[in-house]
Amino acid sequence: MPHQKLHISYNQIHEAIRQSVERFHINEEFKPDLMIAIGGGGFIPARILRTFLKKTEKGKNIPIQAIGLSLYEDIITSTGEDENGAVEKPGTTVQKTQWLNFGASHSEISLLGRRILIVDEVDDTRTTLAYAVEELRKDIEAEEIRRGMKPGESNTVLGIYVLHNKLKEKKRDLPEEIKKNYFAAVEMPDQWLVYPWDAIDIETHTEHANKHN
Ligand code: 5GP
Repeated sequence: MPHQKLHISYNQIHEAIRQSVERFHINEEFKPDLMIAIGGGGFIPARILRTFLKKTEKGKNIPIQAIGLSLYEDIITSTGEDENGAVEKPGTTVQKTQWLNFGASHSEISLLGRRILIVDEVDDTRTTLAYAVEELRKDIEAEEIRRGMKPGESNTVLGIYVLHNKLKEKKRDLPEEIKKNYFAAVEMPDQWLVYPWDAIDIETHTEHANKHN
């Protein structure tokens, strides 16, 4: 991976999101009615994205639900074997740190029949997004079964929105029907991105971003 870091400003993000909504005709075609933001990187992009999305038929803003996922490298023992003698495969694992409680017995909101946009800041190895899709699909299917439907009967649609997609070999693939609803505001080479919400000194950060872009 090149060592050069790419600083991104809030204004660049805002503008990239505005342009992407037009380019992908998101209001005319995907028409999301629910966003699920993957925290923490997906929160601010989801909120900015909402500014450019059409309100619901009832004139309400598109709701944003939050999930927390954290990605970590699997620990490999020095011998390469676990306590049972099995050889551990190096890899990456995703852990839920926060999840939806949709479909819980007292919840009024349901995932079923929704057009759901999963929002994150960057698609790097795709591990996090693939995991989020897999888990949400399980939840949708479980809710369908609970309500006496067949899997898929609710016509719930999932899509993905990211600020940046790094063009590189991905560790995980996405289901075909999700790929049709995949929106990346910016596609870019494999480079480390520095987001404004991580900046300690926002003025210097923004200067860097303006200089190099
Ligand atoms: P994944 O490899 O699962 O696609 O991405 C996992 C997470 O790694 C992202 O949600 C993001 O938090 C972090 N990440 C990956 N690439 C970058 C990057 O270039 N800059 C920053 N700030 N975070 C990144």
